[in-house]
Parts: sequence; structure tokens; C-alpha cells
Amino acid sequence: MLARRAETPYDLPRCVVRPHTTEQVAQILEWADRTRTPVVPYGGGSGVSEGVVAGGAVVVELRALNEIIDFDEKSRLVRTQTGVLGPDLTKALKSWGQTLGHEPQSLRISTVGGWIATRASGQLSARYGGIENMVAGLEAVVPGGRVLRSKTKPRSATGPDVASLMIGSEGTLGIVTEATLRVSPLPTEAADRCVRFQHMADGVAACRKLAQSELRPLLVRLYDPEDSAIFLRNHPHETPGTLLLLSFSGPGAGRRADAAVELSSGIPGDNDLVAHWWEHRNDAVDELMTLMAGEGILGPHALVDTIEVSGTWSDLRAIYHSMKEGLGNVADIAACHLSHVYPDGGCLYFTLASACDDDAAAAETLERWWDTGMTACLAAGGSISHHHGIGRRKARWMRAELGEWWELLAAVKKAFDPNGIMNPGALGL
Ligand SMILES: Cc1cc2nc3c(=O)[nH]c(=O)nc-3n(C[C@H](O)[C@H](O)[C@H](O)COP(=O)(O)OP(=O)(O)OC[C@H]3O[C@@H](n4cnc5c(N)ncnc54)[C@H](O)[C@@H]3O)c2cc1C
Repeated sequence: MLARRAETPYDLPRCVVRPHTTEQVAQILEWADRTRTPVVPYGGGSGVSEGVVAGGAVVVELRALNEIIDFDEKSRLVRTQTGVLGPDLTKALKSWGQTLGHEPQSLRISTVGGWIATRASGQLSARYGGIENMVAGLEAVVPGGRVLRSKTKPRSATGPDVASLMIGSEGTLGIVTEATLRVSPLPTEAADRCVRFQHMADGVAACRKLAQSELRPLLVRLYDPEDSAIFLRNHPHETPGTLLLLSFSGPGAGRRADAAVELSSGIPGDNDLVAHWWEHRNDAVDELMTLMAGEGILGPHALVDTIEVSGTWSDLRAIYHSMKEGLGNVADIAACHLSHVYPDGGCLYFTLASACDDDAAAAETLERWWDTGMTACLAAGGSISHHHGIGRRKARWMRAELGEWWELLAAVKKAFDPNGIMNPGALGL
């Protein structure tokens, strides 16, 4: 978006192809491998890690692979082609009384294949997990045109799960054409709670206790004061602060919600704020585009980006403080929330914004944000991406992230794609 706004010339794809069937994908990858033509898979195009950079490549646009093939009610599995957009899958599942439980903020503009390829995680991951927990089987086409199908199973002990290499592969190994996903009945009861804290550390401790409890929250989001100011921007009567939003679903939701408030040792807040969140939770999709188009309150040379990392509860405090301090020095706003909680840790999600002097300054600032954020995260023991993936944006830090495992990842790439045609450069491969 920055390049478009600054009218910086960028390379166009060599062509765009739009397959409707797995067989057509196979034909494309057979041809591309034979002619050594780079190929970039494209789902909804909502990725935020520069996973799709298509200059000179053949872009395989996958949205015509949009058939929801089968619902196995007994096993609660839905089989679908991977070009299906979030709302279409949600609608079909709802008609069967089911939900996938995967609800990224970008639901409207992202596809099943993109979720799998980026190892995505939705806002309700506390209850449903990440996309990797939902994939029970998949079909992928690899360079040369071979179609690989994995068995659909609840679990198996048949050696390393080779098919799961496609989850998080970001188009570097092949194209995921079909997936069989675990779904759950739509929840009946629901209860929301809001809790306030004096200090971020108290809120983080509350999230840890909750994630390690038996209370099974649906939603856990802890905003630091700067991020709560963003969240409350249309709520002038509420004071920003350290704010925890909780939601519970299913049997005993209200009882579990009350128990969570007690466990948190925080100050009960206005529960309607959670309703406000549910209503506006995906507004950022349009708001970020307006800001980056230079048409928002940050002026014509606005810069906005997000950096999400993960860490154990033991390291999270240090990661938060070092990233917050470092990013605070290079961005006008460095706001953070903690979400996606697990018994052993969670995700810190930084929203960065600056009103830059011109677009050249914006481009420089962007690099400074990423250098600062990634260096601080790694130094404090964090992992450089929780759910946005690596793309090209974070590729520089992959060796530091993976250590000795980096060479093995490169060897896996070679085994799937000996001629290096699949999304060259993504994941640093
Ligand atoms: C406003 C906003 C909010 C967001 N919120 C979230 C969020 O809550 N959670 C989250 O996890 N992410 C979020 N994202 C990031 C993004 O939506 C996800 O990464 C999403 O999973 C990408 O899906 P897509 O279909 O748009 O993929 P694309 O952007 O088209 O592609 C992403 C990567 O996957 C590859 N790819 C796509 N389809 C396939 C396929 N079928 N086979 C192989 N490779 C493929 C591409 O080559 C590329 O490397 C957000 C993005 C925006 C803009």
C-alpha cells in the first residue's frame, strides 16, 4: 500500500491464472516446473507479511476453487476446496448448525488455503485453537504436478506428520487445494465480562491464571493503556487503561465468566465494552486501508503496521517491555494487546502508527520498526510470529529464529521443490 501511495513502480506478475479444479492446478505446476517458471499462490491477498510478491511470476489465483464439497455430520468434518472465502464457509456451516471457530479479523477477505498456508489463528483461539488444530486432512499439488492426498483422521502415530508440512508453508512447497476441517456445534449460551487493572503485569498474570484454569474462555484480550485508547476511540466516556475483555460460551457460560472475574483479582468493568468489541472487531480492515491511503487522521504520509510475536509466560514480561520500549522510540504510537492465550504462554500484538513527513520517510520508518521489533523480540526469547507468518518481511530473522533447524527446512524445500519455483523468497527460502 505504501508503494502504491508513493507511486513507486513495482513489477507486475507475468500472468495470472485462475484454476477451477485440482487437475488444472496440477497442469499448471507440471508446466511451471518443466519451464522453471516461478509460481506464487494467491488466496484472498490479505496476508500482511509480504508473502505474495509476484513480480515476474505466474500468480495462481485460487478463488475459483470455491466448492464446499461435503459435511460429515457424524464426524463433524467439512471438506472444502481452499479458495473459499471466510464468510462463505461460515454461512454454509451455520446452515448446518456448526462453526469452524476460526475467526480472524480478516475473515471477510481471506481464504481457507491462505489460513492453512500462513498457519493463521482467529480471535477465538482460546476456545478453538489455531488453524493447525482444525485440519484433519488435506490435498496439495506439488511441483511437477503430483497430487498428494492425506488420510483424514482424528490423530495417528505413523511417523512424523509429513502432510502437516503444508501448514505454514506459505506457498513455498506446493498449493493446498482441498482441506477437511474439524467443526463444532454453534454455542448456545454466551457471557461477556470486562475487567480493569492498575498495571499491565496484573492483567498478564490474570490471563495466565485463566489460560491455566478449567474455565475454557472463548475470548481473552488484554489491552495496554495505549491500545485501549485505540479500542475506545469511539467511546469518549470510557477511560483508557489496562483492560481485559472476556467471553465465554457453552454450558455454564455465566458461571464460568463470574469465576474468571474473581480469579483475575481485577476490578469489574463495563461488560458492554465486550459487546462493543464484538460489534466493531473487524473494523480495522477498512480503517487501516483508509489510513494507509493517506486519507485518515494521521495525514497523507501515515504509516501503520502490526507486529505479533509469542512467548512463554516466563518470558512474556521481558518481551513486552523490551519491544514496547524499543518500538516506542521509533513509532508515534506503539500499542499492544495480549491475546491467543495458552497454558504455557501467549501472543503480544503491537499496533504501530506514525505520521511521517513524506513517503520516503515512511518507508525508512517501516524498516526501523521491523529491525527494532524483531531484534527486541529475539533478544528477550520470543518467537518472531504467532500467526501472521514470515513471508518476505520477516525472512531476515528466520535463521535466528530456527537456529540449526533452518538447514532442515531448506532441505525440505529442496525435496518438495527441487527447481525452486514455488513462491521464491517467502520464508527466506
Ligand atoms: C486487517 C487484517 C486483519 C488480519 N487479522 C488476522 C487474524 O486475526 N489472524 C490471522 O491469522 N491473520 C490475520 N491477518 C492476516 C491474513 O488475513 C492471514 O494471513 C490469512 O490467513 C491470509 O489468507 P489469504 O487467503 O488472504 O492469503 P494470501 O494473502 O493470498 O496469501 C498468504 C500466503 O499464503 C500463500 N497461499 C495462499 N493460498 C494458498 C494455497 N491454497 N496453497 C498454498 N499457499 C497459499 C500465499 O502464496 C502467501 O504466501 C489479517 C490481515 C489483515 C489485512
